Amino acid sequence: MTFSKITYNEPVFRPPGEASSVILQATIGCFWNKCAFCEMYTSKKFKVRKIDDLRPEIELLSKIYKGVRKVFLADGNAFVLSANNLIPILTEIKRQFGKMQRISSYALPKNILNKSDSELQELRSLGLKLLYIGIETGDDELLKLINKGETYDSTIDGILKAHEAGIDTSIMIINGLGGKKYSVQHAVNSAKIINRINPKYLSTLTLSLPYGLEHFQNRFNGNYSPLSITEHFKELKTFITHTELNNVIYRSDHISNNLVLKGILSKDKKKLLDLINMAINFTPKDVYPSTPSIL
Ligand code: SF4
Repeated sequence: MTFSKITYNEPVFRPPGEASSVILQATIGCFWNKCAFCEMYTSKKFKVRKIDDLRPEIELLSKIYKGVRKVFLADGNAFVLSANNLIPILTEIKRQFGKMQRISSYALPKNILNKSDSELQELRSLGLKLLYIGIETGDDELLKLINKGETYDSTIDGILKAHEAGIDTSIMIINGLGGKKYSVQHAVNSAKIINRINPKYLSTLTLSLPYGLEHFQNRFNGNYSPLSITEHFKELKTFITHTELNNVIYRSDHISNNLVLKGILSKDKKKLLDLINMAINFTPKDVYPSTPSIL
């Protein structure tokens, strides 16, 4: 049997945990598109796709990927859609695919806060069980400098509201985000916010500069001086040291990371810190991550 092709609006991104999921572009691009470090969707104009266009695509995807039980709603923040827009999409996925293990998407805390408790519960009951949230840092000063559009408080309020509705979260922090000047406060306050949230999943990525250092420095509203690889590890060590978590699945295995770490926090805290210490001791000082340019 042959199927007509799904045409994605490229580039398409998905979290590593969605490698075996069906990807449905419910939105194109990111409605916010202003974070200083993020170039993922700068080539796209944000657009909401109509349910009438999505229906045939969901039907086709369900035939191509028969038996797949996970769907990821792309692009940047599909959870920006109102509950009224999301409900028909989730309902159609359920109708076409049958039993689902989970539906997930990227989200910002403000996307959660602008939905009511009952709307979140309804979305959960329709299969939306996981939100990926790049909070990036728990430091209010740094959140402003990177133009995240969120605060320490809004981030906690949004994420706890999702948890209250039974929706799990996978949280991302960016190692090296504030450079030398903000490194310690970034690490300490990121641990502080994670301790309050206690998400199901936590990952640390490393700041990547696809358009080069100068481009990022121009977008960052402060004084940015990059960290050496050893300084990245030291920042990570401060972060992990300050965490007090209960059964959080932690990963540092993104392509941007110089050190692969996997474990459960806090059970594996000592093991993770030992590995980081070893990396600090064995990495030559003053070596900086490469900053490949795509210009
Ligand atoms: S909200 Fe997410 S996708 Fe949008 S610009 Fe910020 S980091 Fe990038």
